Amino acid sequence: MQPKIKLSKSLLRRNYNTIRGLKKPSWLKVKITNSNNTQFTKNIITQNNLKTVCEEAACPNIHECWSKNHATFMILGDTCTRSCSFCNVQTGMPNEVDIFEPLKVANAVKKLGLKHVVITSVDRDDLSDGGASQFYKVISSIKKKSPSTTIEILTPDFYKKNNALDILKDASFDIFNHNMETVRRLYWDVRPGANFERSLNLLKSVKQHKKDVFTKSGIMIGLGETFEEILIVMDDLLENNVDFLTVGQYMRPTKFHYPVHKYHNPSYFKKLENIAYSKGFKLVSASPFTRSSFHADEDFKKLKNLVA
Ligand code: SF4
Repeated sequence: MQPKIKLSKSLLRRNYNTIRGLKKPSWLKVKITNSNNTQFTKNIITQNNLKTVCEEAACPNIHECWSKNHATFMILGDTCTRSCSFCNVQTGMPNEVDIFEPLKVANAVKKLGLKHVVITSVDRDDLSDGGASQFYKVISSIKKKSPSTTIEILTPDFYKKNNALDILKDASFDIFNHNMETVRRLYWDVRPGANFERSLNLLKSVKQHKKDVFTKSGIMIGLGETFEEILIVMDDLLENNVDFLTVGQYMRPTKFHYPVHKYHNPSYFKKLENIAYSKGFKLVSASPFTRSSFHADEDFKKLKNLVA
């Protein structure tokens, strides 16, 4: 008999189908696979007192990812200084930075045997560097314990933290990801604390600071954006030398979050993927369940092979 796993409250709160009249289509049914590996992943995370975006964001892929021991670590606490209307992470005044976090993350990465790991964080507008030095320390700590593990960071926009990229420029990461999340017109409603141009500039600056890393960005669709607006985001990202695009279906975490305007058919994602490739992205992942860190390890291998 498979062991029963107990996941966090955020997962239990999950309710994707709350917009009146908009029924979740069959292709968004999640396959639940509780395995020993899933429980093992959960144990490592709990024992090290770590947070994952898998749980905090109520990701629909958690069963698949955790059954392969893949988890995306969310550093710098579980409380975000922004309040994006799509996001399940709690907003408020965060706790102090945990000085042992770099070691704990590195221990977990080693125990899980990860060949590729994604590290993300909440927004920390309260810190003078936006949390960049903690990213640096986590990366260094992972590299010490697992030198061959490749590292992908998914960062906030480091608004008014001009020192952040200087801190990160000597860090040993392989992919820099910053999600655009949506089209320019919807920023005010969906990402009120963010700015479309600022996010693009961050991606551009990273390429200038670190020519050897891949840059990656993603959007959610189904928020009310038009087809043409999606194509414009693609063009904007390419103008700023972004290598890898992810496109996934927005799923409302609770009835208090931004509503889903449309559940797009898998064929629509395929169409967007083909267009994105024809426009010039090196790699594209577009599907209803695509998330920034979904299959990130396999995608990184593909990217490396493409440029080898
Ligand atoms: S897709 Fe990413 S966030 Fe979601 S469960 Fe997998 S690793 Fe976690």
